[in-house]
Amino acid sequence: MQQPPEKESFRDAISTVTPTGKRMWLYPKKPKGTYYKKRKAVGYFLVFLLFIGPFLKVNGKQFFLFNVIERKFHVFGTPFYTQDFHLLAIMMLIGIVFVCLFTVGFGRLFCGWVCPQTIFLELIFRPIEYWIEGDRGAQIKLQKMPWNAEKIKRKTLKWSIFFLISFLISNVFLAYFIGSNTLIAYVRSPKENIQTLVFLLCFTAVFYFVFAWFREQVCVIACPYGRLQGVLLDKHSIVVAYDYKRGEKEAGRGKFNKREDRVQSQKGDCIDCDQCVDVCPTGIDIRNGTQLECVNCTACMDACDHMMEAVGLPKNLIRYASEYQIETKQKFQFTNRLKGYSLVLTLLVGLFTVLISTRTTIEATLLRIPGQLFTLNETDNTIRNVYTFKLINKSTQDFEQLEMRLLSHQGKIYMPNQTHIGLKAEELQDGTFFIELQKKSWNGKKLKLEIGFFDQDELIEKASTLFLGPRTYQ
Ligand code: SF4
Ligand code: SF4
Repeated sequence: MQQPPEKESFRDAISTVTPTGKRMWLYPKKPKGTYYKKRKAVGYFLVFLLFIGPFLKVNGKQFFLFNVIERKFHVFGTPFYTQDFHLLAIMMLIGIVFVCLFTVGFGRLFCGWVCPQTIFLELIFRPIEYWIEGDRGAQIKLQKMPWNAEKIKRKTLKWSIFFLISFLISNVFLAYFIGSNTLIAYVRSPKENIQTLVFLLCFTAVFYFVFAWFREQVCVIACPYGRLQGVLLDKHSIVVAYDYKRGEKEAGRGKFNKREDRVQSQKGDCIDCDQCVDVCPTGIDIRNGTQLECVNCTACMDACDHMMEAVGLPKNLIRYASEYQIETKQKFQFTNRLKGYSLVLTLLVGLFTVLISTRTTIEATLLRIPGQLFTLNETDNTIRNVYTFKLINKSTQDFEQLEMRLLSHQGKIYMPNQTHIGLKAEELQDGTFFIELQKKSWNGKKLKLEIGFFDQDELIEKASTLFLGPRTYQ
């Protein structure tokens, strides 16, 4: 969108920094309207999911767990291990491509509707602030007041509630990392777990800093996803946009005057009320066009709709639309770029589906014991190799009687002091075993053997290893 030179000054500075480089504190007006109601419904539902996430169990397993220290990960109640890292990596790639696809198509929709930073700030911390300190005008007034009893009371109450919520959020996040059962056990005996408490308080301090002070700066200057907008957005991306064609028309925007005929004066529909600026939590003026600071929170859409209704003009002067749509009044287009991202996303989802459906419940790793070659037994004409095995049960089911069988050759497999392996859910076990082949099976070179792991008579995992013997053995 073209701006006359005198209106281009917004490009020279960010809206939250004064000309002298100091932080400019924002007091956004309390949003209200249809979009805000919808965002509240989505946001509170997501907060609910986030808070119950660590306490939801599937077959006794936490629904989501990211225990990096013990290398235990649960996604939708399914355990994943470091051996499944490729699956987690693909899942992350799918997430990134999905977000990119969404951004190319729908701008920062994620930021406005799903991002925990926006949800916590705009739907939890900010409403508490409005409740204690009042709306924009009252907050500015309170800020300018000297530190009297009233101001101390309100600020102390607000900061104390902010601290408690930050502490609660820290607990929930920690439950995702160490598990809700462990966290509850720690909470029950805090004296023995001072380290955890200190850790929690550090986490709390970070959340408190972000939501009580740093706030919109996360989205404006710190968030890497926000920085990506410049390369992902194009003129076909749907963003929160001001319809400058309608808002400015021939004579530009102008204050509302009941007696004025705006058709005749050629003035645009924007009545220059600044309501869209006052509600903006990042302090920008959306009428200057799409800006990196816009988190698509829809507050300006609601504010403008309200004003349009009040002066009897059609709503949607600020709406979800692309630059192209506003310019040409055409419908949404599924561009080649979107098609490309969709193809990559489909391929990744397909690959992930194949990998997850072929994922075995037990993973076996077989290794020859280093330094041990083979043993010849001339009495019964056999060659023997010794191995170690490592078994991981990735399922939530116990296996009482796992048995190893040689699949590719005739021969014997046995373990010292045991005939079967008992493997509990999520358990990792290792041990030693021997493979013995008859002389006639030996070909004078390395043999590749295939070994099966059976539960009752059901084959549940296959693994292969090499068998060594003498070069010449008659
Ligand atoms: S410009 Fe509108 S949508 Fe963007 S951050 Fe400001 S109020 Fe929210
Ligand atoms: S709220 Fe709407 S009418 Fe008011 S200044 Fe913003 S765009 Fe113009």
